[in-house]
Amino acid sequence: MKKIIAANWKMTLKKDNLTPLVEVVKKADLTKVEMIICPSFTHLSETAALIKNQKISLGAQDCFWEEKGAYTGEISAWDLKNEGCQYVLIGHSERRRYFAETDEIINKKLLAALASGLVPILCVGETKAEKDAGQTLGRVAEQVKKDLIGVTVKAGQIIIAYEPVWAIGTGDSCSPEIAFEVHSLIKQEVKTAVGIDNIAVLYGGSVDEKNVADFLRQSVIDGVLVGGASTKVEAFSKLLANSI
Ligand code: PEP
Repeated sequence: MKKIIAANWKMTLKKDNLTPLVEVVKKADLTKVEMIICPSFTHLSETAALIKNQKISLGAQDCFWEEKGAYTGEISAWDLKNEGCQYVLIGHSERRRYFAETDEIINKKLLAALASGLVPILCVGETKAEKDAGQTLGRVAEQVKKDLIGVTVKAGQIIIAYEPVWAIGTGDSCSPEIAFEVHSLIKQEVKTAVGIDNIAVLYGGSVDEKNVADFLRQSVIDGVLVGGASTKVEAFSKLLANSI
């Protein structure tokens, strides 16, 4: 299985930034990695045009759980599919933290994403307080169990990203030993919950051009979800060069 590199551009970019960053990806050697770009909603169609006919996939950063209706401000998974997305991030810690998304909400979004034909990238991870209290494995297992209720999928139809909240945007990434332990646990929990054992589990949290190879080298790490370092031309270019 090719390692996956997913770029989460959050709300950090202006339209002018899209072309130079997509150029970085187009110039990279993508024969050994699978590339997914997740721009903001308003940048989806322009990014879709920029990556047309390239081996680069498009992902959104969130979706609503209903297909259509009176839900002011929301965007359905089906509309994202029509916009050219193949993937959607679900349950990112910034959604859990700033928009009070619970595991119940995340589960509904996940089911909607699957019903629409999108591949959800489900984000799970413990907070600093949970880590300090020795609750990392318990919290991650709980999120996986609750978020996957009622889900039936085949391999390749869902991706999980382990993103320790304390590591996101802090420059403080998870040690390879902990990543090994948590990724192994996630794979076991997914097997118990949905019966598949070859699920892709990405690591996310302060991945940069210097540490990306250390993560990708590990067999239990199927790829990386990158925020900050994927939004700067030089860092992103070096990160991709160091990923193969
Ligand atoms: C993220 O928010 O998904 C992320 C991984 O961010 P960063 O790489 O900046 O830590």
